[in-house]
Amino acid sequence: MLDFDDALLAGLARDGGLYLPESWPSFSPAEIRAMRGRSYAELATKVMAPFVAGCLTEAELAALVADSYAGFTHPAVAPLKQFGANLWVMELFHGPTLAFKDYALQLVGRLFDHVLAKKGKRVTIVGATSGDTGSAAIESCRDRKAVDILILHPRGRVSEVQRRQMTTVLSGNVRNLAVDGTFDDCQDLVKALFNDHAFRDELNLSAVNSINWARVMAQVAYYFAAGVALGAPDVKLAFAVPTGNFGNVFAGWVAARMGLPVERFVVGSNRNDILTRFFATGVMSAEGVVPTLSPSMDIQVSSNFERLLFEYLGRDGAAVERLMGEFRAQGRVAIPCWNQMDTLFKGYRFDDAATLALMKSLFLTTGELVDPHSAVGIGAGMAATTAADVRMVALATAHPAKFPDAVEKATGIHPALPPHLADLFERPERLENVANDAEKLKAAVRAFAGRNA
Ligand SMILES: *Cc1c(COP(=O)(O)O)cnc(C)c1O
Repeated sequence: MLDFDDALLAGLARDGGLYLPESWPSFSPAEIRAMRGRSYAELATKVMAPFVAGCLTEAELAALVADSYAGFTHPAVAPLKQFGANLWVMELFHGPTLAFKDYALQLVGRLFDHVLAKKGKRVTIVGATSGDTGSAAIESCRDRKAVDILILHPRGRVSEVQRRQMTTVLSGNVRNLAVDGTFDDCQDLVKALFNDHAFRDELNLSAVNSINWARVMAQVAYYFAAGVALGAPDVKLAFAVPTGNFGNVFAGWVAARMGLPVERFVVGSNRNDILTRFFATGVMSAEGVVPTLSPSMDIQVSSNFERLLFEYLGRDGAAVERLMGEFRAQGRVAIPCWNQMDTLFKGYRFDDAATLALMKSLFLTTGELVDPHSAVGIGAGMAATTAADVRMVALATAHPAKFPDAVEKATGIHPALPPHLADLFERPERLENVANDAEKLKAAVRAFAGRNA
C-alpha cells in the first residue's frame, strides 16, 4: 500500500503491476449538481481532491490545478461543440502541444515538483515516444526544479511537427535523444534502464507514461465537466473515445464509478482493432501493429485495459496476472468476465479509408476540420445506437493542425497551427543522436543527470 505521492513518483510498481486507489470515492447527485457553473479548474479540483487527500490539501491541489490549465488557449479548457441533434464533441486539444495528453501531463509535472520539493528529492524522468506523449511530457516538465527529463524518439520516424514540438524546447532540464532505430527499440532501451534496479535507484528514474495513475486521475475531470455541462446527474450520457492504451476510456469508467450517469462507452479503434474484436467476442487476440493515419492509436496491447480487468474480476490481482500471462505467452486469451463488460462497452473500427471519408463528410456537413484520431471517436459515436434520451459526447483528442497531411488529404484544406505555435518551423532545435545501445544510453543519462551534482 502506497500513498498517492509514492504511486505518482513510482509510476509502475516494481512487480510490474499497475496502481489503483484502494477504494473509489463517489459523489451524490446533489454533489454533482453543485458542480454546475464551476470553472474547469474548480470542478477538476473537486473531482480529484478525494484521491490526493492526506498528501495535498484541497487548497494546494486547487493552486496546482489552476496553474496547470491557466495557459490553455480556450477559456472553457475543454469546450463542447454540438455536431448533431444528439452529438457533442469535447475538444481536448487546447493545451500547449495540441493533444489531449496535456490535460493530464500539465498537472502531473506540477505534482511531481510539488511532491519532490516536500521530500527534498529530485528525479530523472526517462521515456520513449512515437510522437504525442514526448512533447506533452516535455512541456509539462520544462524548467521544473526537481525534475530532469530525457525523451527518446526514433530518428526520422516522427512527424516534423511532433519532432519540433520536442526539440525546440531548449530548457536546461530537457534532453531529446534521437535513437537509431524504431519506436519499439526506444521502448526496449527505456525498459532496460528501468530493469537495471541499481541504475534506477542511483538516478531516481521515474516515468510519466500512460500507466501512471495520476494521469488517469486527471482525465476523470473532463468527463465530469462534459457531463455536468450537459445536465448530469439529471441526464444520461454516453462517451465515444478514440483509443490506444485505453487510459482515456478507463478514466471515463472511473467517472462512472464515482457517480456520473454513463450508459455506454463507445470505444473507437483504427485498423489496430484488438479491442473492437474483444468487445465483440470476449477473446483478446494480438495481431501485428499496422501503421495508420492515427499513429497514436497504433497499439495492439492496451496497457490500461488491465485496470478494467482487475475491477471486473472483483479486484483479484492473481486472476489478472494469470490471464495477462496467458495472453503474453499465447497471444490470445478468453476473458471470463466479458459478458458483464458487454453491457457498458461497445467497440467500432475505422480503417484509413473510412476515417478520411468521415473527415470529409464532417467538414461538408458541419464546416469543422477534425484530426484522424478525433474522427475515429466521432465516427464510433455516430455508429453506436443509444436511446434518444442519452447524450452522446465524442472526445476530440488532437488539433487538426497536429496531423495536417491527413486533414488536407480528406478536405483539401491545410489547417494552420494556432498562434502560440505559428513560428514552430523557424525555432532552433536541440537534439542528440544516440546509438541503439543500452550501455551508451546509461552513460548519456548519467552525464545529464549528474551535471548539477
Ligand atoms: C494518446 C492518444 C490517443 C490514445 O489515448 P489512450 O489513452 O492511449 O487510449 C488518442 N488520440 C491521440 C491524439 C493521442 O495522442
